[in-house]
Amino acid sequence: MNGYRPVVGVLALQGGVAEHASLLEQLGAQVVLVKRPEQLEGLDALVLPGGESTTIDRLTRIFGLRQPLIEAIAGGLPTLGTCAGLILLACEIEDPAASQQTLGLLDVRVGRNAFGAQVASAETTLDWQDAAGSVYPVRAAFIRAPRVVCVGEGVEVTARYRGEIVGVRQGNLLGISFHPELTGDTTVHEELLGLTSRAAASSP
Ligand code: GLN
Repeated sequence: MNGYRPVVGVLALQGGVAEHASLLEQLGAQVVLVKRPEQLEGLDALVLPGGESTTIDRLTRIFGLRQPLIEAIAGGLPTLGTCAGLILLACEIEDPAASQQTLGLLDVRVGRNAFGAQVASAETTLDWQDAAGSVYPVRAAFIRAPRVVCVGEGVEVTARYRGEIVGVRQGNLLGISFHPELTGDTTVHEELLGLTSRAAASSP
């Protein structure tokens, strides 16, 4: 990565934080575990991990992170939301829990727990379409995963599973239903790092 070490935040309120952090470090990033609003300053990219979207939503409000997150991401910070993180990014939830809110930034509607309960968790290989249209295999784990039920204009579908949309891209935002950080597949995280402005500036 030419000595360039992007600074990547991982929202660290609940869920699969450590797995993202170690995959990002493996890719040469400096990781900041984000628990406070001021830790969003100076980031090159951000990951919203999987976990429980209702809990993460509540905690973002309790910790005063909801509005700073909206401002940072809407301001162009490259962001990857995985599973509960995808739900958090979405504009609309088909079946929200009582009083559940989202950040409302990714123009998709999601349906929670679309592939069954925890016991129906599965690992599979998906086709991932990058921004240039090339297709790569991605090893993906599904754990009480959401599906994307509809996408707005300007949202590209990047992956499907059992006919359902499980990966999307909208400008600097990537949303995926699955967990590549649990299988160790770096494809999606590499794409996130490629979106950082200094990476874009250093590419030919
Ligand atoms: N079903 C969970 C939710 O709605 C997401 C599961 C996950 O992130 N692995 O938040």
